[in-house]
Amino acid sequence: MSAETLSFQAEVSRLLDIVANSLYSHKEIFLRELISNASDACDRLRYAAIAHPDLIAEDPEFKIRITAEKAGRRLTIADNGIGMNRDELVENLGTIARSGTAAFVAQLEDAEADVSQIGQFGVGFYSAFMVADSVEVTSRKAGEDQVWCWRSDGKGSFEVSESDRELARGTEIALTLKKGEEGFLAPEEIRRIVTTYSDHIAIPIVLADQATGAGETLNQASALWTRPKSEISEEQYREFYHHVSHGFDDPWLHLHFKAEGVIEYSGLLFVPASRPFDLFHPERQHHVKLYVKRVFITDDCAGLVPPYLRFLRGVIDSEDLPLNVSREMLQANPVIAKIRKAVVKRVLGELKRKAEQAPDDYAVFWKNFGAVVKEGLYEDEAQRAVILELARFQSTAAPGEEPGGAPGTEAGKPAAGGGLIGLKDYVARMREGQEAIYYISGDAPDSLRRSPQLEGFRAKGVEVLLLTDPVDDFWLSVVPAYDDKPFKSVTRGAADLDGIEAQRPGDEDQAGAARETPNQTPGEAGELDSLIAFVKLTLKDKVKDVRLSKRLTESPVCLVADEGDLDMHLERVLKQHHQIDRASQRILEVNPGHPLIRGLAERVAAGGSAADLEDAARLLLDQALILEGESPPDPVAFTRRLSHLVARGLAGG
Ligand code: ADP
Ligand code: MG
Repeated sequence: MSAETLSFQAEVSRLLDIVANSLYSHKEIFLRELISNASDACDRLRYAAIAHPDLIAEDPEFKIRITAEKAGRRLTIADNGIGMNRDELVENLGTIARSGTAAFVAQLEDAEADVSQIGQFGVGFYSAFMVADSVEVTSRKAGEDQVWCWRSDGKGSFEVSESDRELARGTEIALTLKKGEEGFLAPEEIRRIVTTYSDHIAIPIVLADQATGAGETLNQASALWTRPKSEISEEQYREFYHHVSHGFDDPWLHLHFKAEGVIEYSGLLFVPASRPFDLFHPERQHHVKLYVKRVFITDDCAGLVPPYLRFLRGVIDSEDLPLNVSREMLQANPVIAKIRKAVVKRVLGELKRKAEQAPDDYAVFWKNFGAVVKEGLYEDEAQRAVILELARFQSTAAPGEEPGGAPGTEAGKPAAGGGLIGLKDYVARMREGQEAIYYISGDAPDSLRRSPQLEGFRAKGVEVLLLTDPVDDFWLSVVPAYDDKPFKSVTRGAADLDGIEAQRPGDEDQAGAARETPNQTPGEAGELDSLIAFVKLTLKDKVKDVRLSKRLTESPVCLVADEGDLDMHLERVLKQHHQIDRASQRILEVNPGHPLIRGLAERVAAGGSAADLEDAARLLLDQALILEGESPPDPVAFTRRLSHLVARGLAGG
């Protein structure tokens, strides 16, 4: 029987190259990956056998068998799971199907990623090449007769051939270990690795004794979530988390529960301590496995966990679903909907407890996953109120982590809660006469803190939330208020600061910049009116309106969106994503207290040169655009006008 030689997909070759030369110190994880694949293969056959019991009739006891032969440095991991036929061997062990893996390979090449994460990227099998010179996979698919053999030294190609070996169903992976890796053949080492990483695997992992032919079961071989909490150590929870997440970090939180009411289910869920790589993948898929009465059904049941909790890892095991439930029908199954509702409540409740009892620790969670949880504000109206309580924000009163702080932040109390605040805190700190919860949205807290639109708020000691997640503009467009206080953008509509008391007692000094709108003489007021009229006329097709500002204390000008228009940042985001092609016109606000504005007003009133004044009016708009982080629409004209005015100033000064 002739063997076919096939090339690995280019990415697999690159990956193998890195893996084979890896100096990674925990090479033992290869065994975890191979055992995990063997256990998956048994799970899949167990599921297939629900509809076709004859598949396992001859040998209904699933197990994984490890054999070590010192002679040829051969380590074998065999399972009686579903097995693979020729095409599956080629497909599964020669190509990379999952998205995100290419990026992982690139990160590995730049030494930014860690080999231990390999399982997360759907390429755990290849970790065998960390310790093996060559790998031979012999497999027989359950229900088929032909045995196939796949063989490779991991250098660019692999070989597939029919095998004349007698093999019951399943897969046998034989590694020829590299010189120096013989340690993995020692029974005590295998025992240690299996109990460290794979104790929770629900089927027996047996270490075969070469001499006697007997076997020693190395693990507890019962599903971890079915064991009583009191019998499970933190270590075992962590190891199970590594199994379900393929990660190597510690879970931030675990929830182990059993519900015995109208619906009966148990579950073991984890919140990771760091962001998984695919958190913002457009598919927004969760990674919670669904079991029915201890039988693995699918890790792809979209209705089980809402997308805004997609960072969860773990399992949910239902007692109410029929074992032969079809995967396609699961989505619409009312039991699934009930479990989801209950699980969401449970998870959010636990998060709330954490937020109250360990605010600093909670802030770590929120920084990782808050942007995802906030999607729930518009996707899950039933939980909106709870999620609003869970939400944390940077604000002008709570300096973030950025070293050096930002200009003008109020010296707040020490940053409890990791420098983040909740809406409850915000409302408790609202100023006398303040009716809205103010926010500003943009790309980075530091640049937001410098926004001119904040000046008047800062001067009055009014706290403003700094929102920097893309999702913020979206939930704000559907969530009108918290605790009856409307959310209000400081870059949209009029600034209604008049009703807010000037200053908190004791704040007077540090708010030295807090300039109230200066008292104007009737003459000055008239001059300002003429200036506004003149600027409006000059910029008539460029802005929606020109008006005196109540929110500026230091900058001469700023732009704001009109009350009924999209907020400026949202509009920018939508434009970037080609959701809209034309931005609406903004309102130019001018600061009546600023010397530039006053000077211009005098010149307009005195009938200065029309050309010069028009240039000045256009420069006002260009400045406002620059303050928004945008460029003047005509940089050449901008530079010409600016040079002209500066030259005149120098000559005149
Ligand atoms: P993942 O397990 O995340 O899919 P791996 O690289 O570990 O990625 O395995 C690739 C694929 O190879 C698996 O999805 C499975 O289809 C197949 N496979 C690996 N080991 C086995 C096995 N022991 N039995 C059956 N199929 C296997
Ligand atoms: Mg795997």
